[in-house]
Amino acid sequence: MINTTCAYCGVGCGITATVTGPRSVQIKGDAEHPANHGRLCSKGTHLGETVSLEGRLLHPMIGDNRATWDQALDLVAGRMRDCIAEHGPDSVAFYVSGQLLTEDYYAANKLMKGFVGSANIDTNSRLCMASAVAAHNRAFGEDVVPCSYEDLEEADLILLVGSNTAWCHPVIWQRIEAAREKRGTRLVVIDPRRTETAEQADLYVPVAPDGDVALFNALLAEMRERGLLDEGYLAERVEVDAGFWSELAPYRRPRAGGGPATCGTGQRVDQESGAPACAGATASFAAELARQAGIPAATFTQLADLVAAHPRTVTLFSQGANQSVCGTDKGNAIINLHLATGRINRPGAGPFSITGQPNAMGGREVGGLANMLACHLGFTNDERDAVARFWQAPNICTGPGLKAVDLFRAVHDGRIKFLWVMATNPAVSMPDSGFVREALARCPTVVVSDVIADTDTGRFAHIRLPALAWGEKDGTVTNSERRVSRQRALFAPPGEARADWRIVAQVAERLGWGEHFAWDHPAGVFREFAAMTGLAAERGKVLDLTALANLDDAAYETMAPFQWGGAYPLAHGYPTPSGKARLVSVAPAEPHTDSAYPLRLNTVRYRDQWHTMTRTGLSPTLSQHRPEALLEVHPQDALAQGLSDGGLARVESASGASVFRVRVTATQRPGEICVPMHWTDAMACGARANRLPGQGTDPISGQPGFKNAAARVQPV
Ligand code: SF4
Repeated sequence: MINTTCAYCGVGCGITATVTGPRSVQIKGDAEHPANHGRLCSKGTHLGETVSLEGRLLHPMIGDNRATWDQALDLVAGRMRDCIAEHGPDSVAFYVSGQLLTEDYYAANKLMKGFVGSANIDTNSRLCMASAVAAHNRAFGEDVVPCSYEDLEEADLILLVGSNTAWCHPVIWQRIEAAREKRGTRLVVIDPRRTETAEQADLYVPVAPDGDVALFNALLAEMRERGLLDEGYLAERVEVDAGFWSELAPYRRPRAGGGPATCGTGQRVDQESGAPACAGATASFAAELARQAGIPAATFTQLADLVAAHPRTVTLFSQGANQSVCGTDKGNAIINLHLATGRINRPGAGPFSITGQPNAMGGREVGGLANMLACHLGFTNDERDAVARFWQAPNICTGPGLKAVDLFRAVHDGRIKFLWVMATNPAVSMPDSGFVREALARCPTVVVSDVIADTDTGRFAHIRLPALAWGEKDGTVTNSERRVSRQRALFAPPGEARADWRIVAQVAERLGWGEHFAWDHPAGVFREFAAMTGLAAERGKVLDLTALANLDDAAYETMAPFQWGGAYPLAHGYPTPSGKARLVSVAPAEPHTDSAYPLRLNTVRYRDQWHTMTRTGLSPTLSQHRPEALLEVHPQDALAQGLSDGGLARVESASGASVFRVRVTATQRPGEICVPMHWTDAMACGARANRLPGQGTDPISGQPGFKNAAARVQPV
């Protein structure tokens, strides 16, 4: 029996694997793992159906020809060297993945930021939780999730924001359900879609797309009106700008003709009625939210009563909040409510961002995002100098690099001439994926490291490098509650596949930096990363793994899951200059309207599929749940557009178009439609969701607005 960690979502469930043949394995939940206590969802349970070598990339390829590793690595290094020499370090970019292990991420980040001399390394985690990262940094001074899964079992009230938890984080959902049964925990789901999760809530709040900031500002103003702020906590632990309360906007301000119409102090005036906007707060907030965010007035009152009555509140937020052009503000609106009511850093209370991918958090720790350096450090001279000394780096980068959408724009317009994609499929998963395909087709050198031979992105590659898959790799991942666990190899490397960290190190060696990448085991990479977190700790950050910097290989092999920062990492102070958290003023965004594309399109995930289905598509059991991609549309819109249940419809946006089978359902709000994200060109069946959202991003986090794109439909 081998203890390892699930390949899929950010819950990070522990698995006990029993290898039963050359490529077969029995999977069970690890009863000892704190993330899941033996539970698994359908995807984890059926991992054993996905470990065959079907479709695998097993040898390096140059174009359509099989190559040796030496030939492929020489070519990668040579093209990189030439590109840097001729066009400078910023002409080179890496686009990596939350599927990488921390050791892989560390190696790639070190090569790019310390040796190539550019910060052009971004990741598909930009599409997942970059807005939560930015919100944490603004409020806490560091990207720290202040909760643990156990808080879900200690809470009296759980607010799920933009999360179909029952489908997307099923083991979290099982823990919530168990808590409801045992403790009577009340559950509220805030989501534009009446999802499978919403169906089971005590209260469903049908917020309009991107209406979350208005809603949480209104809740905060309402708690203030009811005298439920924690004045002691605010005074001791939170910085509140002088203008914060006067700028608190529970709903959008009028576009023109009026002065400030903010709420919360009783000084402001409703622009329509002329009455004090916030006197008799619930009624006025509820009425405005009903008018602007589509939330029934009675529903807001119910929600406010629940929040007022239950100080032990956890707000769990996910992609519905993050994948937005105002995702960072949404995160801060949620965090503001928790800080101001003192619902943080204690059992059963806190704002809890839950990540999508198995190692998005590990990537954040080592600096896998273009706007951070490494180990939660930024780009000040002090931080850059410290990192350069630690790495003995000859070419430390000078500042942040390009975030994902901007990175592919730079590929498209020729500024980036060498792109190395690791463990991800941006030709499908990026927004406006037609544009991304054009960019890949124009790029002089595209290198793809992957486990699958034929992916949509791999078709654009000049060089393909075979990487190790789940069940073959060895290393660590960090889940949503900051718990680091080992992924362990179950099988020998197939064909000529190699670990990603090793491939990166072998390219670095060919570029003349081999002594700085001279690891012979993932434990060596981990030790170096753990030692490097000392730079963060010296600067007052929470991230500190230095106690593990001397772990020997045997201890790494048997390392048990551990949670950095402990259960309440911010309980003794915030890593800001003042030691206090910050309330951040956030205002609701104006709704986007486009008469040519009058519907709001949401892209979603199915229960039994993962990303672009390269793994889950191998499982016959998983494919039974939803074998086809469905366009979900409200009956009113179906009638208006002439769509019939079971028929086909063409969905169009300014970026692209694709065809889907129609499902008419009242779970959609009128005027809003949704499609799943998983299907790809390689499947040759249409239903390519990510051709549709445009390139709009959150101005702070750079995260794309997948959840609220302008679209139209017509029958086929
Ligand atoms: Fe794997 Fe996530 Fe399911 Fe756990 S909840 S078994 S980590 S997919």
